[in-house]
Amino acid sequence: MKRTIAVVVCVLMMLASGFSQSRDARMTPFIDRLMKRMTLDEKIGQLNLLTIGIDVTGPVLSKNVEENIKKGNVGAVLNTRTASAVRKLQDLAVKGTRLGIPLIFGLDVIHGYATMFPIPLGLASSWDMDLIEHTARIAAVESTADGLNWTFSPMVDICRDPRWGRISEGAGEDPYLGALIAKAMVKGYQGSDLRDKTSIMACMKHFALYGAVEAGRDYNTVDMDRVTMYNFYFPPYKAAVDAGVGSVMSSFNEVESVPATGNKWLLTDVLRRQWGFNGFLVTDYTAINEMMAHGMGDIEKVTEMAFKAGVDMDMVSEAYITHLKKLLADHQISKEEIDTACKRVLEAKYKLGLFEDPYKNISEETAKKMIFTDANRKFAREAAVNSMVLLRNDHNILPLRKSGTIALVGPLADNKRDMFGPHGAAGDWKQNVSVLEGFKDIPGINVLYAKGADLTDDSLLIKKLNAEGGDIKTADGVQQALIDEAVNTASKADVVVAVLGESQGMSGEAASRSMIGLPGNQENLLKALIATGKPVVLVLMNGRPLTIEWESHHAGAIVEAWFPGTEAGHALSDVLFGNDNPAGKLTISFPVNTGQIPIYYNHKNTGRPLNEDQKYTSKYLDVSNAPLYPFGFGLSYTTFEYGDLQLSSTSLKGAQTLTASVKLTNTGTREGRETVQLYIREAAASITRPVQELKGFQKIDLQPGQSTTVSFRITPDDLKFYNRDLKYDWEPGQFQIMVGGNSRDIRSAAVSWAK
Ligand code: BGC
Repeated sequence: MKRTIAVVVCVLMMLASGFSQSRDARMTPFIDRLMKRMTLDEKIGQLNLLTIGIDVTGPVLSKNVEENIKKGNVGAVLNTRTASAVRKLQDLAVKGTRLGIPLIFGLDVIHGYATMFPIPLGLASSWDMDLIEHTARIAAVESTADGLNWTFSPMVDICRDPRWGRISEGAGEDPYLGALIAKAMVKGYQGSDLRDKTSIMACMKHFALYGAVEAGRDYNTVDMDRVTMYNFYFPPYKAAVDAGVGSVMSSFNEVESVPATGNKWLLTDVLRRQWGFNGFLVTDYTAINEMMAHGMGDIEKVTEMAFKAGVDMDMVSEAYITHLKKLLADHQISKEEIDTACKRVLEAKYKLGLFEDPYKNISEETAKKMIFTDANRKFAREAAVNSMVLLRNDHNILPLRKSGTIALVGPLADNKRDMFGPHGAAGDWKQNVSVLEGFKDIPGINVLYAKGADLTDDSLLIKKLNAEGGDIKTADGVQQALIDEAVNTASKADVVVAVLGESQGMSGEAASRSMIGLPGNQENLLKALIATGKPVVLVLMNGRPLTIEWESHHAGAIVEAWFPGTEAGHALSDVLFGNDNPAGKLTISFPVNTGQIPIYYNHKNTGRPLNEDQKYTSKYLDVSNAPLYPFGFGLSYTTFEYGDLQLSSTSLKGAQTLTASVKLTNTGTREGRETVQLYIREAAASITRPVQELKGFQKIDLQPGQSTTVSFRITPDDLKFYNRDLKYDWEPGQFQIMVGGNSRDIRSAAVSWAK
């Protein structure tokens, strides 16, 4: 009886709000009326996010979730999926509580749901916003069919330190590209209306600066000035807000010596007041509790801090549900503030259409029809192909001929488990296409397989990785036998393809590495293979840039395949055998060695810029300043030639427009795609400015011998930056305009621009 009344009350309230008004206009009166009927406990309950058992990413697991839902103590749940599991909990909320307020169901759907796409750092290498948006759309369609309404994505943290394992979850080091990708993903997830059955609410994270943790160690301290925040780290967060992201997650790290989760300047002044964010703000996993370890005081103190800072929903700490009432009684917080937070959560539920249909898309039939379809897998293959970056191709050893004998070697060659990388969501790794399977689909070739090495033989590392879902087996003395077998296999082949890299658990959360080379036993394998004198193609699968200097001189070809997802093997065959011509470009610098980190293309000049002939300039004694592979770098099976840079004017004033053009010619023998990049540098300004900043790019398809003129329109908006007063404006002066195929291979010309 109680259940029926709850449902009827909700529906009647919807009806009473009147059909004549638009849905948006009806939202506020509807929520106001609902809130008038809510007790204080029920309001606080809406601010509580609990986790169920699967895919847990933190050290704590919520207890008595079902009991708490029935008591009205829960506003949302994470880490549960499938129609039946979601329906069961939604029933408890909708039919089992006094007001029948539906729950929101969240999960880390980061790079696909069941159909898995390449890791975000891989997708970013496509520089293809439509493609990225479409991966998010497919993820939304699949995950909503399984009952989800909320994804903790996109992660838009800029990162300059590949030791940080979570670099795999973001778009790389550049704020301009990061902002475009943030926008594309929010659009893809949320669609045009959150109420649509296939729309999932996005959650921009981790606000803020999580990618700048010191020494790349996860959860570590961040130390940054505001000018750097605004110019280099904030743009992707702001872009997600501008794109209408429904929710934001605060980060674990501190910002200006105050943990982000309790940082009012960050969460209220910047996010809400300056950027106009009007969704709800959730903490990261147990981030309120963790403020005690940060040294911010006892649990009551940190709860108050988070609440006062502007956090609406508490993920798993259960600090709000336990302490807000007392804080209110002690007059530390106000009833109005609780109302505001509750209202924001209810608004999200309203926008998602959950009051009209709490079950939205939940149906086993829909799930079966929509999830892991052939069309989705086909797109996953396309996405993986577009994410791969050709780093080296000595003597055009690639593409491989579709004849002869190929030795396929390496711990990732006949491997399905590790193809997702971190955050496999609902992906079933057993259905992944391994590289060996992909090769078997190529007619005319004879494939000989040998494992050659385990993913690692470091027993301590194996213990950690296996504890988190890995399945790495090794035994003492086995590595040499594996290498011998692989060398023997290689000796029978015309060419060797070695698929090496990281296990899925070696990047992602809590997966920082201090040395980012290939594991030692894999390196030994590669050396032995190269010593055979056979041509060796090195395929890398990993979640971060690796230090591969030796490899870059000795392997015949190198393909950075990242963790390619469900269709790994097919996509890799498409690229290696030349059905597709690789066109990916790095969105992150590859260092020569770990000592160069942080290394990023948009650095400052310093007062003593590099001069190899001068001792007292900014450099190392033992390594160059240049990365091994720069931002924007990626080869093709064809070649592109850039003509001189032509400027429409060299002296501009005010709002005039500059056109920068370059002639691009496909000088090779295959059709190919080039990403032409525009960079700008201001010679002198009121603050120090980077030596170059990406300001635009175009993807150009050309037939062999074909030429085209690629033009960029530049306006004063492209010259703007945040000055010392954090005012966003441009300053007149001299500018260097640069165009090229990567950040270091550019043609440049100067202009002056007066106000
Ligand atoms: C991660 C978040 C994630 C959350 C929920 C945390 O540990 O930092 O990125 O969304 O867990 O799984």
